[in-house]
Amino acid sequence: MTLSNPWFLTALLAVLGVFHLELIVLVLNLARLGRALPSSIAPLYPEDTLQKLREYLADGARVTVAQDAASLAALLAVWWGGGFGLLHEWATQQGLGTVGTGVLELAAVSLAGMALNLPFEMWDTFGVEARHGFNRTSWGTFWADKLKTLLLMALLGLPLAWVLVTFFEHQRLAALWAWLFIAAFSLLMTFLSPRLLMPLFLKFTPLPEGELRQAILDLAHRLDFPVGEVSVVDGSRRSSKANAFFAGFGRARRIALFDTLLEKHSQQELQAVLAHEIGHSKLRHVWKHLALGLLELGFMLCLLAWTLQEPGFFAAFGIPGTPVGMGLVLFSILYRPVGMLTGLAGLALSRKHEYEADAYAVRAMGSAAPLREALRKLCVDHLSHPQPHPLAVWLHHSHPPLVQRLAALDRLEGLDSTRHSKGTR
Ligand SMILES: [Zn+2]
Repeated sequence: MTLSNPWFLTALLAVLGVFHLELIVLVLNLARLGRALPSSIAPLYPEDTLQKLREYLADGARVTVAQDAASLAALLAVWWGGGFGLLHEWATQQGLGTVGTGVLELAAVSLAGMALNLPFEMWDTFGVEARHGFNRTSWGTFWADKLKTLLLMALLGLPLAWVLVTFFEHQRLAALWAWLFIAAFSLLMTFLSPRLLMPLFLKFTPLPEGELRQAILDLAHRLDFPVGEVSVVDGSRRSSKANAFFAGFGRARRIALFDTLLEKHSQQELQAVLAHEIGHSKLRHVWKHLALGLLELGFMLCLLAWTLQEPGFFAAFGIPGTPVGMGLVLFSILYRPVGMLTGLAGLALSRKHEYEADAYAVRAMGSAAPLREALRKLCVDHLSHPQPHPLAVWLHHSHPPLVQRLAALDRLEGLDSTRHSKGTR
């Protein structure tokens, strides 16, 4: 563990670099709240709403900084206190064989990470979100969610860890095998999770017969989008924030609307939000995203295969030899900095897709007005940052800022009206 080990220096710089970058982004973002709002959204933010927004974002930033600082401090303490070496020694003594030892190490570190994050999650849910009127999660739901997550991690995570450690322990082309395995696993989960996993956390009930249900089915039919069921999801049990999504594929596809979305939006706005979601599906965004994700995964696994063969990488964390399980644990520390870089392409693609889905919704609805209204309401109701700093958008945002989405809608309408006026002339 010396500064002469390039792995030690690289890992340290990466971890410290990400911490400071996040800090800078937070400060830049909060500073942006002092700016005057552009005319397209200024009327949405009277002074008291603006004040609420500033307090909410500042409170959230406090949690983030405290959590990041605690994680960094814990990592450095374990790292420089020889904790990784001790963990490996203890795991090896359990007599589980090389693969079992690796799985045990991965499980122990995941549990420790969960335990470390727990107080910050509580602070965020029952402190910040509650103070600003968003939280509706009870302590019972909170702990039940945690327990279910833990069980799922045991049921899915342990076998997955076992397979990965086995591959990297025994196979020559481990990265390729792992890639094929994880790709197949994710595809399977995409199909299974709406039926098996989501119902564990959310309750789906059919949207009652009536005007709204008919309007939604009519829209789906008009856009040639087969739907099996329209459901309402009890999002209100956890948060007052609203959402909508699709689950499943083909005829078994289910439209799910959060009850919180139904509360606040008109029928036209709901249709526009759904048309946007249908746009994502029609324009094959899910598949494009999946393809890019698999590319990133391949890159990560090649990087992993390389680091697992480098004794210097293990030495930088005080581990003798190159035990695969510990290698996976240590790699997960470098995963965030590297993932931040590789994730940029995915975020940029996602933001591009949002514009495309917006445009699809405008065409489907024949007007930009309902989507514009829905986007405004969602942004104000969620107290989202109306004009985040470009660096924050670039690093973290899967959706473009409201101001830019509204401007894109205006441009679409401008195009439309010039086309119409030409046509009538
Ligand atoms: Zn979208």
